[in-house]
Amino acid sequence: MPQSRTQSLIGRLVARSGSGPGKDKGAGELENDQFRKVFESLALGGVWSTSPDGTLLTISSAIEEMISPDQNLLGRHICDIFCQDENSEDSSRSLRIALSRRTRFERMALQTRFEEAVKWWSVSGEAQFDASGQFLGFYGFCTDITNDRLAVEQTEQLAMHDALTGLLNRRRMTDLLDRTLAAYQYQQRSCATMLIDLDRFKQINDTLGHAIGDGLLKQVGERLVTIVGDREKVCRLGGDEFQVILPDCDDRGALGDLAGRIISMLSQPYTVEGSRCIIGASVGIGISPFDGAERGELMRNADLALYAAKHAGRGRFCFFTRDLLEAVEERKVLEEDLHDAIERGELELHFQPVVSATTNRVVGAEALVRWTHPERGKISPQLFIPIAEESSLISRIGEWILRQGCEQAARWPGSLRLAVNVSPVQFIDPGFPNMVAQALAVSGLSPDRLELEITEGVFLAEGNSVDETFAMLKNLGVRMALDDFGTGYSSLAYLKSAPFDKIKIDQSFVRGATVNGSRNRAIITAIVGLAQALDMETTAEGVETFDQLEMVRQQGVSLVQGYLYSPPLPNSQFVEQANQAEWGIEPSGHARQRHERIKMYRKIGAIHEDHYYTVMLRNLSASGALIEGLLDVPVGTQFVLDFGEGQLAVATVRRSRNATQGVEFEKQLVSDGNGGLCTRSRISPYLLAAAGLPDFATSTGPLATVGEKLHKVTIPAFLKAEDRRAIVSR
Ligand code: C2E
Ligand code: MG
Ligand code: MG
Repeated sequence: MPQSRTQSLIGRLVARSGSGPGKDKGAGELENDQFRKVFESLALGGVWSTSPDGTLLTISSAIEEMISPDQNLLGRHICDIFCQDENSEDSSRSLRIALSRRTRFERMALQTRFEEAVKWWSVSGEAQFDASGQFLGFYGFCTDITNDRLAVEQTEQLAMHDALTGLLNRRRMTDLLDRTLAAYQYQQRSCATMLIDLDRFKQINDTLGHAIGDGLLKQVGERLVTIVGDREKVCRLGGDEFQVILPDCDDRGALGDLAGRIISMLSQPYTVEGSRCIIGASVGIGISPFDGAERGELMRNADLALYAAKHAGRGRFCFFTRDLLEAVEERKVLEEDLHDAIERGELELHFQPVVSATTNRVVGAEALVRWTHPERGKISPQLFIPIAEESSLISRIGEWILRQGCEQAARWPGSLRLAVNVSPVQFIDPGFPNMVAQALAVSGLSPDRLELEITEGVFLAEGNSVDETFAMLKNLGVRMALDDFGTGYSSLAYLKSAPFDKIKIDQSFVRGATVNGSRNRAIITAIVGLAQALDMETTAEGVETFDQLEMVRQQGVSLVQGYLYSPPLPNSQFVEQANQAEWGIEPSGHARQRHERIKMYRKIGAIHEDHYYTVMLRNLSASGALIEGLLDVPVGTQFVLDFGEGQLAVATVRRSRNATQGVEFEKQLVSDGNGGLCTRSRISPYLLAAAGLPDFATSTGPLATVGEKLHKVTIPAFLKAEDRRAIVSR
């Protein structure tokens, strides 16, 4: 048998090295010596032997040299020299077991670490007994397998990591998420995941080339690792998609902040091989177990959230909610309906007056499209314009808006200007300048009365045609405005090359600017300074309160648009007001900015003592809400409001009138990244399960079932408004 031949070879080799257990110095000594030399010089390995207690008695000097040049290994326990690897708990366990059982072991992969020198060995050994059967110790040999081992590690590294960025790859992330979620389910812990998609990466890749695209992805990876703080939690799924996992994280306030930081860091300019690139990022967030206990469901839901973030205008984050599942269906239906919206006369333009900040005189208006759906009523352009852009319906709708706007404005009294929003998709269409010329010619509107609003996205769209289009439009004599400045990349670079007539400062900037400690005010000052230096006008968008108006006036903003002056008006109303001589509007509204209230009409739960009431939510802000449905609730009453999907908020009644109460939350709600609000944390489905309640993941609405399960011992404190109506009418 080859095995026993090998072993007898070891026996002879070890015996020759001097002090091994079986000191057989018989015939063939010379031959053995030769064997050993050949064996060692061919770097096949070396031999060793131990005493019965495992102390090293002999070792080939070449091996000893390789393991540790400075230390004498003889006399040390063999398990202190060879170990499994630094991470195993008892690193020499297998070797120890083999020694104690006196069994033969073959090709055991073991490591030696002496100071800097780390080596891997394939170690084999066999117990030796004398003629009377007494145990003498072990004979063995070892070969250096360090290079093979490194190659294996490298292959493993390649199999687990993305070759370009060095981040975890999809396979590894899948595996990691599976294992984490399985363990966490058992331990009842939460784990969030973020899917990150780069906005406009494709254009960079297409226009600047793949080498730059690759360089950019590497930098994106590095930025993500810096923000997340742990390389092993960041993955490149492929293309321009990345993923982050965040164990033990379910605080939506903290997650929203992190997502916001990711978006803003990834949106800062990059320099790759001398080229400057600007991209953006959208983030979708799913949190286990709320949004799925298993990977498949969690990933699908995070993906839906990402999709929602992209369609809400990109450069945003979005948490998964059950509503998104419905929204996907809804989008499909809306897209179909939008096809016929023009023909069916469902689109209409409203006009929002633009007012001089110093004189309150109206100088023009912005056309804002409105869609009244036959069944669903009014649909926001923020919802349907992106659908139109994606389905290429935007060209037709855009053309209709431009022609319609020009025709109506041509009939306005005086020389009020008309501003029209132009989507990037529309702007890069080569036929666009011609279409503008036609709309002007047909309507007879003087070109200097038309202002086209484009966003920064246009400059990221494609190559050189943007500058050309810009120049052609300027040649027609129309004015150009840069819309939503401050929301996207806010790069000042193109302000130099593209001679805009106006910069519109986005409403999110105006809104934040009056909050203490906000940097928005300083940024507005800088924008206004720059605009003045370049001879451009500025419009502050979305001015709603007097303190905001005061602030933008102080900063020297030239024009103002916002509800404080007027909402967008149907053309008939607009014309009616425009007919006054010297049309001016007195601002009217709140003195100060309050937490934004979102109007709604939605059923939620209100838990008081051991009763669960269903009430109507009428409006919502971060700090409080208006609820309707319970009669004569005293001020100071505390409720737990149930917004559904495990979102509970403790609220105290601050105002109460008949069936309506204004409540204040104990903990403020946080942004859901998409214009809505959500609670910071949710009750865990684990807790619900423990209480014998159904998982809200299976029921979309509030936990009305909680109400049924409540063990009621008190009489309900409040009468429902509907019950009183019933009593009165009887
Ligand atoms: P935008 O161009 O920045 O338009 C300003 C938006 O702010 C309008 O929303 C307007 O109604 C709203 N707004 C005006 N004053 C205030 C205020 O004081 N407070 C608040 N909270 N909002 C105010 P709207 O009409 O919903 O339009 C949203 C966006 O949809 C527009 O943003 C624009 O990007 C797009 N859009 C609207 N109409 C058109 C259009 O005809 N063509 C294209 N391509 N896009 C359009
Ligand atoms: Mg606009
Ligand atoms: Mg705007």
